[in-house]
This record gives sequence, structure tokens and C-alpha cells, in this order.
Amino acid sequence: MFEGLSDRLSGILSGLTRRGALTEADVTAAMREVRRALLEADVALEVVRGFTDRVREKAVGAVVLKSVTPGQMVVKIVNDELVAMLGTDAETVDLNAPAPVPILMVGLQGSGKTTTTAKIARRLTEREKRKVLLASLDTRRPAAMEQLAVLAKQVGVESLPIVAGQSAVQIARRAMDAARLGGFDVVMLDTAGRTTVDEGLMAEAAEVKAATRPHEVLLVADALTGQDAVNTARAFDQRLGVTGIVLTRMDGDSRGGAALSMRAVTGKPIKLVGVGEKVDALEEFHPARVANRILG
Ligand code: GDP
Repeated sequence: MFEGLSDRLSGILSGLTRRGALTEADVTAAMREVRRALLEADVALEVVRGFTDRVREKAVGAVVLKSVTPGQMVVKIVNDELVAMLGTDAETVDLNAPAPVPILMVGLQGSGKTTTTAKIARRLTEREKRKVLLASLDTRRPAAMEQLAVLAKQVGVESLPIVAGQSAVQIARRAMDAARLGGFDVVMLDTAGRTTVDEGLMAEAAEVKAATRPHEVLLVADALTGQDAVNTARAFDQRLGVTGIVLTRMDGDSRGGAALSMRAVTGKPIKLVGVGEKVDALEEFHPARVANRILG
């Protein structure tokens, strides 16, 4: 069974009966446990290093309050730093641009991109009363195009009619034209999925981006990807300029380390989290909850 960081730290620092400031030695021992806890939560190694360095700086010399144990004190410093790094509470999809507002959806195949596109469309329609048009740009996988059309129906939004033989950029342009003519507020462009970060598909998505100038480029990423999360996030962000991240499968066993990793390497906000297969299984991101989950 997993032992939470608080329990471990109280064990380690239990010998510390004196009150006063945390010493270098106390903090070094504590940081070993913090590092272990973060790695177990699947936070990427390079992010763990930066994080423990910052926490160490804050913890050494921190005065232990009378009401808490040294272990609780360190846990509080770690928790506060985690929450601060994870970002702001309840971020939203930014629609503050002239209609139709283009939103580009990117991510690895199987990350939950198409499902998330439908989930967000549903949310924008129901909560914000926006008229949303969905378009699949996955020209290589007709099944993916069909899947988006089916999901669109399910959430009660329109999808762009499928025309065989068009390129991704042509479909994207057609979607923007249709949205202008049809008085849509938002156009969500679901780019082709890829199993690995693939230069051909990156170039295609970059071309779509140049043609449509999306207001949001949302990276959909699986919370279960663990150590790979940083590489994926960095590659998509460098190539496509991600504006926000949607973390899927937070209903699973993941401890949420990917949230910290992706946020740390890109500096981009986590806007929403997917918590199930159903189209209503989408929630706001709450840093404090994820920090708790990471610390166990
Ligand atoms: P895409 O290839 O990235 O477009 O992925 P899909 O949208 O087709 O999703 C792949 C699978 O993951 C489907 O079975 C979805 O129902 C499932 N899925 C998507 N998001 C979530 C989520 O937040 N939680 C869970 N448990 N499953 C999800």
C-alpha cells in the first residue's frame, strides 16, 4: 500500500524534537522522500529536480511553528509550492476573439482528443450558449472523421459535412467559411492523431494553424503517460505554440504527475480534465486537488 508523504516525513523527522528552524540535514533527508513521492506519482525526473531544489531553498531555515511538527511543516512547504506550480484554479477556454473563434485540438492518437473535442463543444454549447461547429481534419483515418460526426450528434452540435479527397488545410478553410456563413461562434478543428510525435503531421498541423490562426491551441494529453508527458508536451508546444492543456483519464489510477510535468516544461495552463468516457465527463482543473493526489 502506498504511504503518503506526510506519514513518511513524520517518520523521518520524528527524531527532531527541538523547535526552531529546519536545518540543512533535516531538509536533505526530507527531500529524499519528496523526490521519491514525486517519482512514484510519475512526475518527470527533470521536473522533480527543479522542484526539490526550489523547495529545499524555501525549507532550509524555515521556522517550525509551535502548532506543527517539522514533518507537517515540510509537507506544507511542498504542498504550497506544488499548488503554485500547477497554476490557477478553474481556467477556461478563452473565446475572447471575433466569431467564429477557431480552436485547434492537437495530441497523440488515443489521448482522447476526439472525445475531448466533443466534450468541450458540449460544454461551450450548454454552459456558454455558443454555437459550435466541429470539423475533423484526420484525412488518413476516415473512421476518426465518422467518430467525430457521431459524437457531434450525441452532444447536439453540428459537424462539417465530410468531403473525400480534401487536405487538412482545405477542410479547415471550408470549416471557417461554413462557420462564417452559418453564424457559428466557435469552430473546433480536430487535427489528425499520431502515434508518435511525427514531423509530417506536425507540419500539417502548423499549416492549418497558419491558415486559420486559432485563438486556442489545446493539447490533449493522457494523464497516464507518465515520464513521456514532458517530451510530448514540449514537442507540441515548440512546434505549434500550445495555449492550454487538457489532461484526460484523470478518472484512472494516475496520481497526476503528468499535470505537473507538462505545466512545468511548457508553462501553459491546464484548462480542463477528462474524468471518464462519457461526453459529460469533463471538469475544471483544481491545482489543490491535484497536489493532494500527487502527494498521496
Ligand atoms: P483520440 O485518438 O485521441 O481521438 O482518442 P479518442 O477520443 O478516440 O479516445 C480514445 C479512448 O479513450 C476512447 O475509448 C475514449 O472513450 C477514451 N477516453 C477519452 N477521454 C477519457 C477520459 O477522460 N477518461 C477515460 N476513462 N477514457 C477516456
